[in-house]
Amino acid sequence: MENKSYDVIIVGAGGAGLMLARELGLKKRKVLLLERKMDLLNLSFKTLGSFMNIKEFNLSPEVVAADINTMTLYSKNIKCSAVTKACILDKEYLHKHLIDIIDKNYVDIQTGISIKSYSADANGNLTDIIDDNGNKYRATCYVDATGLSGVLSKQKGLQDKKPDVAVGVEYNVKYKGRTDEAHLYLGNHYEGGYGWLFPLKNNRAILGFGSFDNLVINELKLRLNKMLAIPHIAAIVEKDNDTAEGGILPITDVKTKVVQNNLICVGDSVSQVNPVVGEGYKFIFRAAVMAANAIEKALSQNNIALLTEYEQQWNKQYYNYYRKAKRMQQALMDYSKSDSKVDFGMLFLKTKRDKTITKIISGEFTKREAYLP
Ligand SMILES: Cc1cc2nc3c(=O)[nH]c(=O)nc-3n(C[C@H](O)[C@H](O)[C@H](O)COP(=O)(O)OP(=O)(O)OC[C@H]3O[C@@H](n4cnc5c(N)ncnc54)[C@H](O)[C@@H]3O)c2cc1C
Repeated sequence: MENKSYDVIIVGAGGAGLMLARELGLKKRKVLLLERKMDLLNLSFKTLGSFMNIKEFNLSPEVVAADINTMTLYSKNIKCSAVTKACILDKEYLHKHLIDIIDKNYVDIQTGISIKSYSADANGNLTDIIDDNGNKYRATCYVDATGLSGVLSKQKGLQDKKPDVAVGVEYNVKYKGRTDEAHLYLGNHYEGGYGWLFPLKNNRAILGFGSFDNLVINELKLRLNKMLAIPHIAAIVEKDNDTAEGGILPITDVKTKVVQNNLICVGDSVSQVNPVVGEGYKFIFRAAVMAANAIEKALSQNNIALLTEYEQQWNKQYYNYYRKAKRMQQALMDYSKSDSKVDFGMLFLKTKRDKTITKIISGEFTKREAYLP
């Protein structure tokens, strides 16, 4: 039994949990961050392209592996480049940086703790959360930041029990291409899912392949290997190791309930990743900042009901975007089965301005872009 009492317990030290812990530490809140892995930097995949401006989150410039100013999309026969401003982040360095800047005077981090369940009072407020050894942890407010595990969000009905998912696999490869250009591959020609090539530091890059299709999921590595043989990819990429890493992301419908009583959920535990291109970090970081502000207000006014301000703010900013993005994701899934349709879509994109293309792929689109194919 854990005796110390905390303002907040965050379960899960991925991007969402770390950013929230950083924010709450800045507000001098007593926080316990629990992570089931022993090593916080044991990450299962490293792909991290983003349209975020790292200054928005006061992050060190060193978290950026490559500044991107050209995004090139490929269908079988058409290539469409847009001048854009994005970055590829060094995921391991980013997590290390967040761990370093979390204020340890206020935030305790415990690893190797896997939360399994909770107990609640008659009103539905969580009173304790419980790990797989039966140890209990107590706070005023609890946060599920456990990603797709959704250990509390699923039990509380805020996330689907078995969410629809996309799965990705990646190689870290030798790279001879431009370091300011990111590549996205769409359609059957690129093995029927979506592929990406993101430059890193030191002439390395991540070549990845992902799919929404359950039938393809078992052959992801095979398909990624086939992509290596495509001539324009082979010209700039050399596979020099056999380590394939991978991960899963939720592609459920938009979640509007992200708070219940004294439980608040951030990140993939409530599907906050943008459905179109699977960009998560910008959105989960924003969610973490919103959540921290709502938690601070609720605690300082001793009114836990104020946690719902986070939910209201999230929905106001993202509900419509995500609904449109979800429709676009569906169109992309349908289109990617046919190379001619993707070619057509690409020709259509070529008629659009760089700014419009950027809005579409960054998920920050307005009504106009939302109805493009
Ligand atoms: C293949 C792939 C490519 C992607 N590419 C990009 C990209 O280019 N750009 C981008 O921005 N996003 C990308 N994403 C999405 C992004 O990675 C996710 O949105 C993000 O990782 C979600 O962060 P999170 O903190 O919510 O969850 P996670 O990163 O999953 O972290 C959850 C943490 O909780 C811990 N945990 C789980 N269960 C428990 C438990 N019961 N008790 C204690 N701890 C627990 C886990 O060990 C983990 O550390 C990609 C995702 C995938 C799968």
